[in-house]
Amino acid sequence: MPRERLYLFDTTLRDGAQTNGVDFTLADKLAIASLLDDLGIDYVEAGYPGANPIDTNLFAEKRPMRATLTAFGMTRRPGRSASNDPGLVALLGANADAICFVAKSWDYHVRVALETTEEENLASIRDSVRAAKAKDREVLLDCEHFFDGYKSKPAYALACAKAAYDEGARWVVLCDTNGGTLPHEVEAIVGEVCKIIPGDHVGIHAHNDTEQAVANSFAAVRAGARQIQGTLNGLGERCGNANLVSIIPTLKLKPEFAEKFDIGVSDEKLHSLVHASHTLDEMLNRAPNRHAPYVGESAFATKAGIHASAIMKEPATYEHVAPEAVGNRRKLMVSDQAGRSNVLAELDRIGLAVDKDDPRVGRLLDEVKEREAIGYAYEAADASFELLARRMLGKVPHYFEVEKFDVNVEQRISAKGERVTVSQAVVKVKVGDDVLISASEGIGPVNALDLALRKDLGRYQSYITGLELTDYRVRILNAGTEAVTRVLIESQDETGEHWTTIGVSPNIIDASFQALMDSIVYKLVKSGAPA
Ligand SMILES: [Zn+2]
Repeated sequence: MPRERLYLFDTTLRDGAQTNGVDFTLADKLAIASLLDDLGIDYVEAGYPGANPIDTNLFAEKRPMRATLTAFGMTRRPGRSASNDPGLVALLGANADAICFVAKSWDYHVRVALETTEEENLASIRDSVRAAKAKDREVLLDCEHFFDGYKSKPAYALACAKAAYDEGARWVVLCDTNGGTLPHEVEAIVGEVCKIIPGDHVGIHAHNDTEQAVANSFAAVRAGARQIQGTLNGLGERCGNANLVSIIPTLKLKPEFAEKFDIGVSDEKLHSLVHASHTLDEMLNRAPNRHAPYVGESAFATKAGIHASAIMKEPATYEHVAPEAVGNRRKLMVSDQAGRSNVLAELDRIGLAVDKDDPRVGRLLDEVKEREAIGYAYEAADASFELLARRMLGKVPHYFEVEKFDVNVEQRISAKGERVTVSQAVVKVKVGDDVLISASEGIGPVNALDLALRKDLGRYQSYITGLELTDYRVRILNAGTEAVTRVLIESQDETGEHWTTIGVSPNIIDASFQALMDSIVYKLVKSGAPA
């Protein structure tokens, strides 16, 4: 049976840019657009020309890409002609392949927010679609608050959608703008819409306010819709938009959809999904969500020993899809519940081949258990585990030694009369026969220590220039009678690889120092620095 084409429309750069704390530069937007284009997304909605200088610049010139570059804007204002509405004129002048108009479809909003009549709103939809068609643009109409509108006055909501379709809009997109509609309601209402507009002209735009934006998107597809709008990592205002990073693999890997539909994302590009998701996080300077479906670090992680041995025998027993399909990997966490099979599987993954009866495996397991009893958590710190394992096998060169360090925090009154806190660190490092002393100031004591440590590592300096700390997490634990501090540091390097290291101590500076040292040594090992 021939498969039907299902289209993906990304609005990370428009609706996603509404997220609290997200501010894309023009360079960010262009980079994300090309990432989406490369992934095989059909439509990239890049912004709202005329609304701000970045979006205006973005559409000021042609930006060739395979995807349909889409500009967003409002239908003509009530009481004006299309040619007499500066917003619409700017939109029509934008260098875009398609124009996505947003229009009210809820009678209540037409009256209260737009302060116009239902008939004038319909005329505005028709005129705007006609004007964009006359400019040879592909046209989409986002029906704002469609589901609330349908519940309030179905005939009017449908009339708005039908007006755009009859005028030649390629897509009529049903928006759950408040995000409160439930999947069974979406399925029923989209089913009704598809009786008057063919489903291959109907799209769904779901928000995640009941955490069902992804489910709502699939409900719409089951009812006949053939375009899904969403964002990378579910970025978006409030609780976000439908997450394309979850939608894409479900469409590709679950037979219910995979057997019925083709999408623009190839099997090969599906492997780059983890990369796409993490690239966006990096750009936003956010730590990736470890528990994100399909792409999170924990999405295919198993902790218990009995499961680990079953997974080694037959991965499908504990995995709903193959992690490699989306560019992720199986992770058997080494933890206090770990059995030999976990440790052996991890060693195998790291590429440290050892015989399963090697006594060092037992020693490593004991060491992990002892350390976890005092607060270490290796399941969260893959790089520190790898170093522990390599040290046990005698495979970590003695690169350098920190002979001593000194950190001080000083609070004083500045020349301007303000109270300021300054941190300084001095580190004495021995590399071969060279003794190097470095000092640095930092935002806090750990930052100062980090900067001083990485300032001068002599002949190893060139190996760590691309090293960057991306996340720092502190937790106070109660182990026995004393409180200890656990520090987790996430680092990345110029290749884009991420790793996490750990330190535990009653003293937060000491715990941080351990985690920083592990991160540096891990980077040296990974880069093949000579002993
Ligand atoms: Zn939206």
